[in-house]
Amino acid sequence: MNATKIFLAEKDMPRQWYNLAADLPNPPLPPLGPDGNPVSPEMLAPVFPMNLIEQEVSTQRWIDIPDEVNGILKLWRPSPLYRARRLEKALGTPARIYYKNEGVSPAGSHKPNTAVPQAWYNKQFGIEKLTTETGAGQWGSALAFACALVGLECKVFMVRISFDQKPFRRLMMETWGGTCIPSPSDQTQAGRAVLAEMPDTPGSLGIAISEAVEAAVADQSGKTRYTLGSVLNHVMLHQTVIGQEAKKQLKLAGEKGADVIIGCAGGGSNFAGLAFPFVADKIAGADIEIYPVEPTSCPTMTRAPFAYDHGDTAGMTPLLPMHSLGHAFVPAPIHAGGLRYHGMAPLVSQAIVEGLLTPKAYNQTTCYAAAIQWARTEGFISAPETSHAIAAVIEEANKAKEEGKEKVILFNWSGHGLMDLLGYQKYLAGDLVDIPLSDEDLARGIAVMKDLPKPEIRKTGKW
Ligand SMILES: *Cc1c(COP(=O)(O)O)cnc(C)c1O
Repeated sequence: MNATKIFLAEKDMPRQWYNLAADLPNPPLPPLGPDGNPVSPEMLAPVFPMNLIEQEVSTQRWIDIPDEVNGILKLWRPSPLYRARRLEKALGTPARIYYKNEGVSPAGSHKPNTAVPQAWYNKQFGIEKLTTETGAGQWGSALAFACALVGLECKVFMVRISFDQKPFRRLMMETWGGTCIPSPSDQTQAGRAVLAEMPDTPGSLGIAISEAVEAAVADQSGKTRYTLGSVLNHVMLHQTVIGQEAKKQLKLAGEKGADVIIGCAGGGSNFAGLAFPFVADKIAGADIEIYPVEPTSCPTMTRAPFAYDHGDTAGMTPLLPMHSLGHAFVPAPIHAGGLRYHGMAPLVSQAIVEGLLTPKAYNQTTCYAAAIQWARTEGFISAPETSHAIAAVIEEANKAKEEGKEKVILFNWSGHGLMDLLGYQKYLAGDLVDIPLSDEDLARGIAVMKDLPKPEIRKTGKW
């Protein structure tokens, strides 16, 4: 076998999503409402359609992928598995490095893998319009694409500073027929309240979430719902097509399996999508190292406590059991915008608590150096988020070289960076600095959670 790309036939695409909640020895604790009691599915009904809420709370191991959803996913799936031969050679490593190229989707990242089913289930439920928020624009563009194909209206609240500075992702949303408005806006009470106090605010993801939720709930016709691009259980579920395809492709490449699995993690979805089918093998006894990777500026998994915290800055969402830097935490303005989130998916967090995953953190200049080496060997220009996974891959490949071990390393190339070249410009000009989180700022962030309920730490001690 000396293939560079390993293709899977469309007929061999996964027909079910894999739900890790069925196999974790201790599944995640339930989200809590303002009164400290578990949130019921009915309480979420104004925000999400019931068919997605059912997936959110499901503990069924396999959930069928509807044929129509599969039909749309076929526009870019199965994504190719690549062997990074040129990087292997440059590093002189005995490791074999494989990656899933999720940059081949229409929006350029893994995010359409969940945007499409989320739009489809909303449509099935009779919903006509979806709202969401977006930071740099990756999620907003993925949802606008999905709504165009499924036939839904799409309204995206984009953080004002990105709206002004990054017009291209907004133009992608508009090309797909979506509406993109800068947040804070005068269209919601939450937005108007912020504008009254701070007319020149650059906005924040927290404010944008508040606006998108309000815009969905306030529609008296009941035909509007809200969507989230990461963190929630059903989002992790939808992304598991990545890992299921990868397993089949590794076999086609002549490999028995993988020794090391790596993905960058902001809310956790692209990492989970690749890793969870392998976490199942690890629970069943397989010997696999699994590394979610984050920035040192936003060290949720490596330094923050496992706590109950809100998903949004304003504290409107239920309390989720997760690693969190505190809902008011504002990370340094690093270029990997998709990794600047204070929390982490409850499913990923519980797998960390169990010891099934080993989180890592890197400085942004290390990540850009890795992305440059990648571009100059493998060719593709990586999203700044993806560069964190590449930094970990290079470290593992160098370790395999020192140990003289023929490891199989598999990682998720979550998206391309063609809309994010300003970060490369700054790195190449020598203008980027590392901004690891200080102990004082960590303590300040965590302090906002001190009066919230504390989750029980449940682990078997097996890993
Ligand atoms: C949004 C994004 C991420 C981070 O989100 P996750 O839910 O953690 O996957 C990573 N890579 C790319 C390219 C993204 O667009």
